[in-house]
Order: sequence, then structure tokens, then C-alpha cells
Amino acid sequence: MNRIVLDDVLKGKKKVALGGHVRPDGDCVGSCLGLFLYLEEQYPDVETHVYLETIPDAYTLIQGTDRVRTELPEGEPYDLFICLDCGDAQRLGFSMPLFESAKETLCIDHHVSNEAFADINYIVPDASSTSELVFTLLDREKISKACAEALYMGIAHDTGVFQYSCTSPETMEIAAELMRKGINSSEIIDKTYYEKTYIQNQILGRALLESMLIMDKQCIVSVIRRRSMEFFQAQPSDLEGIVSQLRLTKGVEVAIFLHETEPQKYKVSLRSKGIVDVSQVAKYFGGGGHARAAGVTMKGSSHDVINNITGRIAIQLKQAQEERDA
Ligand code: 5GP
Ligand code: MN
Repeated sequence: MNRIVLDDVLKGKKKVALGGHVRPDGDCVGSCLGLFLYLEEQYPDVETHVYLETIPDAYTLIQGTDRVRTELPEGEPYDLFICLDCGDAQRLGFSMPLFESAKETLCIDHHVSNEAFADINYIVPDASSTSELVFTLLDREKISKACAEALYMGIAHDTGVFQYSCTSPETMEIAAELMRKGINSSEIIDKTYYEKTYIQNQILGRALLESMLIMDKQCIVSVIRRRSMEFFQAQPSDLEGIVSQLRLTKGVEVAIFLHETEPQKYKVSLRSKGIVDVSQVAKYFGGGGHARAAGVTMKGSSHDVINNITGRIAIQLKQAQEERDA
């Protein structure tokens, strides 16, 4: 995918909106705010707004998060809508009408499931994060400390603090460049990634305690139901990180985490150690993501959802086994 030139895309634009996926995560917030802060500083004549669902408390360390809009505006359509870290227009959630009405649309993303749905697309599935992609579009000399903090957070989150296999030498070079802007990198990682509230730790404990090894111990599965959410007074954003912890279990290939959002409806998070491409599994049921981290919302009983998911995983594990035996 050809790299785009910001100057060209912004030429003649007066009003620009930025938006990311529902339930914004670290990379979504980092890439949106990083680009927002840069545009504000470098293109003062362009009126720029960010639209995101309510940002989890931990990410409010990042400058500009207090100016994010959580509701649709009235008035004229935007000249340009920039969609970040979002594999399809539906996943924009409440801001989708702004995407649809905008005179031009640009998508910056690294999801392998992204089908290039905007007018202009900058999609690089090999990139560690959308924040890394945003960095490649900016004039590095002009990146401010606040912008660097946002992008660094995004990259740190989507690489599991520079540990997942999506972390490339380029990722590390970009992180180094951002550190040279004088950011407090250890504080960003500590406060936005590792620090957990008491409630988050409690519900993590529940999920781990009730997890089960299945499929000959190749998968681990855990379910958090609405009654547990009520009991712990937890928000959906408090569940972030649970599936990553499940994935660390020695011997398992895939971690499956179900969150009951409504009766007979589950948000499914999948994480793989490498053999299974979980983006394929999620895509089969209408979701998406990356080879090692994907998600989907599914209807039915938890039993049925787990059966359907494990059925698709089993096909891939069998194929891998046959390839090894061949
Ligand atoms: P998580 O499990 O943390 O919600 O998501 C893991 C990855 O899968 C993220 O990159 C996320 O954007 C993607 N993902 C999660 N749920 C969905 C979904 O319902 N649809 C699509 N297309 N992608 C999803
Ligand atoms: Mn991302």
C-alpha cells in the first residue's frame, strides 16, 4: 500500500473529523489523539475534531482526551473523515454517519481483515499498530512531546510493550525517536498498561479462577457473565487484558474469552500463540482482527458460542498437525 502524503490529502479541507473503533483501546486512542494533536499544531487553519466512545480512565493521561467528542454534532458534513485503527465502517459505531456523509474519507489501519473501504486507504497489516503508521505520515522534526506520548502509548499497547511478534526493528526505531521527544515512557507504560484498579484485578481473578482447559489442553476458555459484572460493579473496559493473561498459560495455543453483554449475546476475544490464525476464526463469524488477536460478537448460549469457535480452531489445528506429519 502506497504511503499517503498528508499535505495532499488535507489540501483545500476546512473541517476534518477523526474517528476510531468502538470500545477504543490503547492504539485506537493513541493513533487518533496523536494525529489530532499533530494536525492542530501543524494545520491550524483546518478545524479538526475527534469522535470516540468514552475513553477508559487510564488513557486520559494523554493530552486532548478531554476534548474528544462522544456524540454526533449538528450541521454541515465534514470535508474529510479519517478513520483510524478500524477494519470496517460498522466498527466506527456512533461516528459512522460522519464517515458516510463526509465529502472524502481516509482509512489508516493495520487490520488484516480491512477491505480498503474508504476513498483513500493506507493499510499495512504488517505494521505493529495504527500509531506506528501515523508516525510514518508525520514530519518527525515537527512531532511535539504531547503527540509523541500518544503515539508511544498506542505502539506500546498493540505490541504488548514491544513483546509481540508484530514488533519490528522499525517499531523499535520509531519508539526510540518518540522517546527523544522527552516523554516519560515508563510512566506511560505503567499508568496506561500495567496499572489496574482493584475492580479490574478482582474480575481478572474471577476469570482466571473459572477458566478451563479444553481441546486436549490446546485451548483455554473463560466466561464473564452479566451477574459477575454487576457483582464487581465492573465496566466492559475493565475486562481488557484478561484474554492476554489467559494466553500466557503454558501449553495452550489459543485463549478464548467470552463477555456476556446481553442475554444470549457474547463479545468474544481470541488470542493465539502462532499456529492458529484467529482473524480467520473471527472473520468466519463476522468479526475480524489480526492473526494473533481477534474478536467477534456472537449470539446464542455460551455453550454454542464456544462450540462454534472451537470447531473453527480445531480445523486449523488439524491442518497444522497434518502439515507437521507430512
Ligand atoms: P479485542 O479482543 O481486544 O476486543 O480485539 C482484538 C482485535 O480484534 C482488535 O484488533 C480489534 O480491533 C479486533 N476486533 C475485536 N472485535 C471485533 C469485531 O467484532 N469485529 C472486527 N472486525 N474486529 C474486531
Ligand atoms: Mn491497533
